[in-house]
Amino acid sequence: MFIEKFRVESPNVKYGEHEIESVYSYETTDLVHEVRGGSYQWVVKPKSVQYQFKTDIRVPKLGVMLVGWGGNNGSTLTAGVIANREGISWETKDKIQQANYFGSLTQASTIRVGSFNGEEIDAPFKSLLPMVNPDDIVFGGWDVSNMNLADSMARAKVLDIDLQKQLRPYMEAMVPLPGIYDPDFIAANQGSRANNVIKGSNKDQVQQVIKDIREFKEREKVDKVVVLWTANTERYSDVVVGLNDTMENLLAALDRDEREISPSTLYALACVLENVPFINGSPQNTFVPGLIDLAIKRNSLIGGDDFKSGQTKMKSVLVDFLVGAGIKPSSIVSYNHLGNNDGMNLSAPQTFRSKEISKSNVVDDMVSSNGILFEPGEHPDHVIVIKYVPYVGDSKRAMDEYTSEIFMGGKSTIVLHNTCEDSLLAAPIILDLVLLAELSTRIQLKAEGESKFHSFHPVATILSYLTKAPLVPPGTPVVNALSKQRAMLENILRACIGLAPENNMILEYK
Ligand code: NAD
Repeated sequence: MFIEKFRVESPNVKYGEHEIESVYSYETTDLVHEVRGGSYQWVVKPKSVQYQFKTDIRVPKLGVMLVGWGGNNGSTLTAGVIANREGISWETKDKIQQANYFGSLTQASTIRVGSFNGEEIDAPFKSLLPMVNPDDIVFGGWDVSNMNLADSMARAKVLDIDLQKQLRPYMEAMVPLPGIYDPDFIAANQGSRANNVIKGSNKDQVQQVIKDIREFKEREKVDKVVVLWTANTERYSDVVVGLNDTMENLLAALDRDEREISPSTLYALACVLENVPFINGSPQNTFVPGLIDLAIKRNSLIGGDDFKSGQTKMKSVLVDFLVGAGIKPSSIVSYNHLGNNDGMNLSAPQTFRSKEISKSNVVDDMVSSNGILFEPGEHPDHVIVIKYVPYVGDSKRAMDEYTSEIFMGGKSTIVLHNTCEDSLLAAPIILDLVLLAELSTRIQLKAEGESKFHSFHPVATILSYLTKAPLVPPGTPVVNALSKQRAMLENILRACIGLAPENNMILEYK
């Protein structure tokens, strides 16, 4: 049964006028590797740590500035939100279609609340804590192409034409701000698009982005801004000692106008200096060590990398299932072809390499979790191919072959074929990223023994469900398995309202 909302009544939770306060018992373990009876043994010691959470429930008016606003993702997301806000429906060859937020974890998925009279009760994910309603987001941003958003939507060829006609009047006046452009970092084939660029040194460009954010905030009367990179995939920038390895070196390199600072790093620098959350939806290493260092020192949220939309999402489910079932995936081969501008940009070897790296590491945690199937250091063969085929446009084809070793030397091969508009997968993920990033800035926590409440670590691992190559603080494990990522996110939000993690034990019926 589905319910719209609920309220928790418990000594562990207090609903105030501006805050929800909760007390949460974190059941975890200490691991000890020690000599017992003459040999090393692993000893597991359960422990319970008391946490307090404090969530500000005043939902701000949110502004979202997209880098690459006029691209397929940027225009599709903006169009989708306007269509939802205005309650637009349109005629397709099948039916009258209503606007919706399908594909968004926060807007279109549910969580289990409990059971009642023998029935499972579920409520919207967004009912866990007060979140920004996406209909109320004000969009803005930058693009190196000056095309207005209505024409960008037409160029993208993603949405039905009847919908486009209805949306055009809302989008014609939306024109991206000039962007930071450096042809050295994206494919040469993007040059003809770049007619809207910020001139000057690296430092001037960072100052301009800061000015743009301030003016947008002022003009649109928004309380908070989140910036998200959905521009073209860049090549990796070189990580060089003395250039971008520490905060000091990166800021000094900015002063010297060094060429090896990518546009995405410049936008991120501007946001961190301005204390505005910055999320990277593409695979490149925007977050060079010096930038992570700066974000940590300034306690400014950064999150990424690379939207986890289609093929990789399937991979982080399927490999988790195979390894979890005691089956050994030994060969994983992923082909894609697509014909949008992203595909054209990825046809250059340097930008493709960024995507290849991002897509490659996704099975590592699952493989290393099972020492029965895999020897230490052993990996499945894992190959990624991306080809640009203009005719298919945004409708990406993803073909995957998984070959696994099963019982008694047998082999099992699974083949998947997915055809889907890439931007219709990415747009709701962008929405979730900005909504959850905003929410996470309103949560404070404190473990027993800590004197003061603090926010989450500025490197936002809470967003990892939504990204292919989750950015984590130095020395932190990377979790790629989708079910674990979702459970982490849901259980943290549950803790904020004094609810235990969802353990799926259903003991009351055992
Ligand atoms: P797109 O090429 O349609 O849009 C990118 C836009 O960025 C273009 O309008 C371009 O003019 C602009 N741009 C390029 N460099 C810029 C800069 N320095 N500053 C400002 N604007 C700049 O691409 P898309 O299909 O919208 O995808 C965007 C990004 O998202 C790509 O990097 C892609 O790899 C990544 N991504 C997409 C998906 C998906 O499912 N669609 C999944 C994961 C990652």
